[in-house]
Amino acid sequence: MIVAMQEKATEDQIDAVIDAMTEAGVEVHRTTGEVQTILAGVGPTAGLDLSKFEILPGVMRVHRISSPYKLAGRGWRPEGTIIQFRNGVKLGGERLHAMAGPCSIESREQMFATAKSVKASGGAFLRGGAYKPRSSPYSFQGLGIPGLELMREAADAHGLLVVSEVMEIAQIEPMLPFVDLFQVGARNMQNFNLLRELGQIRKPVLLKRGMAATIEELLLSSEYILSGGNYDVILCERGIRTYETATRNTMDISAIPVVKKLSHLPIVADPSHGTGLRDMVAPLARASVAAGADAVLVEVHPNADKAASDAAQTLYLDQFDQLMNDLRLIATAVGRTM
Ligand code: PEP
Ligand code: MN
Repeated sequence: MIVAMQEKATEDQIDAVIDAMTEAGVEVHRTTGEVQTILAGVGPTAGLDLSKFEILPGVMRVHRISSPYKLAGRGWRPEGTIIQFRNGVKLGGERLHAMAGPCSIESREQMFATAKSVKASGGAFLRGGAYKPRSSPYSFQGLGIPGLELMREAADAHGLLVVSEVMEIAQIEPMLPFVDLFQVGARNMQNFNLLRELGQIRKPVLLKRGMAATIEELLLSSEYILSGGNYDVILCERGIRTYETATRNTMDISAIPVVKKLSHLPIVADPSHGTGLRDMVAPLARASVAAGADAVLVEVHPNADKAASDAAQTLYLDQFDQLMNDLRLIATAVGRTM
């Protein structure tokens, strides 16, 4: 259920409504918007008589949530979620951001060269995998914590935020000091135990769409994190498997406006995994920004052809720089800044 409070509702009135909802056995998630406070009630609301909440002082409107996702739906935060990072970077607002870095963290040299260049090109986040979900157990599996240590160092040297993939619950705690944004990869979008655990922390999570997942399934997965009280979830379109073989995946650009319509959560586009091909990354990144993405996630490497993983889809640093120039123009054309 959703309880929309009146614009001028007092804190006492809001508290009284929260108490009444809690007493009725529903879990309350509050959002305090610019104009009004909205309370989402999750739990056994089917048999509840909603009119008893409607008459409480300060309440404007009460209705049931018809979609299967309760907290990810736009109704809870009609104006959209803006996620603020500790250095002041805001994601989900008018300003677009870029997250860039290698698929895998390989060396100090690689991470420092990448961080310097990403920053100079206008990126806000340094990406890099320390725990890699590789199709083959014989492929490079990542450097683990020592890799995160050097990514953190490189990011701090250039004022960048760090995004890196977490593959299992046991990695959350050791990763906490090094990352600003936890990435859940496509292969773990439905690792519900991991998602629940990420709902308990208070750091943003980037949830990638599974390669065979519908948008509804993506939103339901985000619900596992949101319902734990971690409301800082960013969704990511990274391409889905279709019958097409010309690209590694099919970048579902339409997912961007669909998510924007259904949900208040920010959405990031990953045209690197979305296409798997270096020369397709820029066109799909441009299309994503035109379609309303809040950020792009791009794999870059100083020596792209020699990257330890995903070399074929990795941009050289100068290609990323050119892409950023193009994206800024497109952002302006669609009423945003970058
Ligand atoms: C990655 O970001 O390197 C990655 C493994 O992504 P995905 O989970 O989308 O395949
Ligand atoms: Mn990759």
